[in-house]
Amino acid sequence: MLVVSVDVSGPVVVVSARTRSHPPAGCTGCGVLSTWVHSRYVRHLADVALGGRPVRIDLSVRRLCCENLACS
Ligand SMILES: [Zn+2]
Repeated sequence: MLVVSVDVSGPVVVVSARTRSHPPAGCTGCGVLSTWVHSRYVRHLADVALGGRPVRIDLSVRRLCCENLACS
């Protein structure tokens, strides 16, 4: 992961991050590998407290399209 920013201004420490490398991923339907990025979305992950304050990791992840034209 690559940490983009850390916000300590509120009651929750918020770490914004994204994946560092972008390897191909297998389609869950047909298994063909793809690097075709359709969009990104943010997963909110809770982590252990830091100095008594809760921590949330906002991880930006890729959403890929299958490159197999025959795949539904
Ligand atoms: Zn597929």
